[in-house]
Amino acid sequence: MPIDLILFHSKLEDLRKKYEHLHYLETDPICFPKKYKDPLDMEVVSFISCLYAYGNVKSIQRFLEPIFEFLGPSPYQSLRKEGEPFDSFLKNLGVYRFQTKKDNQIFFLTLARVLRNLETKSPLFESKLIDCHGKFEEEISISQFQKFWEDELKTTLGKRSLSYGLQFLIGKPEAKSPKKRLSLFLRWMVRKSYPDFGLYQKIQPNQIPFPLDVHIQKLIRILGITDRKSFGVKEAYLIKEFFKEISPTDPLLYDFYLTRVGIIERCNAKYEKGICEVCYLKDVCLVFGSATGN
Ligand code: SF4
Repeated sequence: MPIDLILFHSKLEDLRKKYEHLHYLETDPICFPKKYKDPLDMEVVSFISCLYAYGNVKSIQRFLEPIFEFLGPSPYQSLRKEGEPFDSFLKNLGVYRFQTKKDNQIFFLTLARVLRNLETKSPLFESKLIDCHGKFEEEISISQFQKFWEDELKTTLGKRSLSYGLQFLIGKPEAKSPKKRLSLFLRWMVRKSYPDFGLYQKIQPNQIPFPLDVHIQKLIRILGITDRKSFGVKEAYLIKEFFKEISPTDPLLYDFYLTRVGIIERCNAKYEKGICEVCYLKDVCLVFGSATGN
């Protein structure tokens, strides 16, 4: 059955009004860059936070909190300074899921070197995501950005290949996966309204792929947006196109609010009376409809 876009849009608006409050940011890795005022810090902290944004929010926070605490009021400046504090920062890094201590050390050594070599000018990385004509290209821009980091990591390592943990962290440029952590980074950098930062000017909000994390993948299926079972970068752009019908210039407008349905409301894409009866999306949810006959 085709989606009733007017009804769907009104439910999304209800959800937006519910979650458009600063305290909901604590349930999202965007809480880290939100603590900074300087755009250089916001961008660097966003990049780090997005790369490690896999796993549950609590484990991401447990790993990242001490890192940002150690890096002090300006992580950008701290990473650029060579010497004892930075060496001690590297020594204190721990393990995070697929990344060993060594992987994390290599990543931060690489990031620090890249930052030292870049001009002190915001934005730092946008030029790595556009072509020589200043254009963001769906097919190639994110892969090109991954390739840049892959090469820099290899330079630090002095090797031609990366460990599993480092390759996972930055993603494989040639992979057809949804590239959801870098899509999330783009959302934070490109969108200009809550909860994002809008630091990038050359990339438009209606160009970037929808960040397809596990919550969103389940949700868009039960909302009837797609019946695909597997999701890759192609689907990330297709879902963005769907949301363009609702919000042409800002199709990722509802991403943050939709992810709250999984993270806060504990939607597991199955009918659970206590959760579903109070869900703002129940009138447009196929699972709710088939369980209740509505
Ligand atoms: S009605 Fe239930 S299954 Fe449907 S989106 Fe809401 S919480 Fe999830």
